[in-house]
Amino acid sequence: MWDPEKKRLGRAPPMAQVAPATAKVALGIDIGGTNTVFAFVTPDGRLLGRTVIPTRAQEGGERLMARICQQAAAMLREAPAPVAGIGVGSAGQIDPRTGVCVFANDNLPGWTGMDIRGRLAAATGLPVYVDNDANAAALGEQRFGAGRGVANLVCITLGTGVGGGIISRGRLLTGHRGLAGEVGHIIVQAGGDPCPCGLRGCLEAYASATAIVRRTREALPAYPDSRLRQVEPLTAREVFAAAAAGDPCGERILAETAWYLAVGLASVINLLDPELILIGGGVAQAGEPFLDRVRAHLDSWAVTRGRARIARCALGEAAGGVGAPALVLAAA
Ligand SMILES: [Zn+2]
Repeated sequence: MWDPEKKRLGRAPPMAQVAPATAKVALGIDIGGTNTVFAFVTPDGRLLGRTVIPTRAQEGGERLMARICQQAAAMLREAPAPVAGIGVGSAGQIDPRTGVCVFANDNLPGWTGMDIRGRLAAATGLPVYVDNDANAAALGEQRFGAGRGVANLVCITLGTGVGGGIISRGRLLTGHRGLAGEVGHIIVQAGGDPCPCGLRGCLEAYASATAIVRRTREALPAYPDSRLRQVEPLTAREVFAAAAAGDPCGERILAETAWYLAVGLASVINLLDPELILIGGGVAQAGEPFLDRVRAHLDSWAVTRGRARIARCALGEAAGGVGAPALVLAAA
């Protein structure tokens, strides 16, 4: 059984101190809307083999679960060392106590209600730990990445959506139903733009890559000379590149995105007093000029007056593969 008291985190001993015969690895599975990543990871965070399969979400949840079980079983037959368990980070709202997906939006049709833990445990015979992908990423950063040694941190992923994971006093903060840390759905503009979650005015409705592209398209008619008018397909990366090159439309969107993100982060800081806030996902590639704007707002909006450090995630695209096995290692 999943035991919240056992989710205490600690630095893993170096592999050199573990006798080879007892050295175990964890299999991590990161289920995203586009790709699903499988990786074996040692207790000190070394990747020992990584496989990526397309999620093909439109085929439905049942087909996806069957392919994940099949791939996991195939990898376990070739495991580089004894396997301690399987950690799964999945898109959607996950109840970590049951390992069931409570709700997934249209990015993963048929995933709502999926018993991820039960199905994988039956297929492999191993202990399985499931959480949402943002919580897994937060654990991965705390254990192996930019948050090593930090007991109080918040990890925010700005990608297709906006995810968040909170580590408080060394443990993943789960909340009453395991749904804590939904930073993406902090209201930054009451009654504002619609969010994929069905509410309005959430941070995700302004600061996700999807929202950045939408806001750019809405703003472009006012900028007849913007280079972004020629860009197709328009992406958040292109918008930030244009901002860096001095394009006024790009600069406006970058400034507004930093403003909305800082509005959300001010509440996060005032509520949790984290030592460190890590920003990951594609939008974080906008880099230090973007984060400097966020920091400047927070100097005047957060009661800690800028004492929460804002930095970028270290694991990048590897976070999914490394974060999910961290669920196994954290439970050990
Ligand atoms: Zn929302």
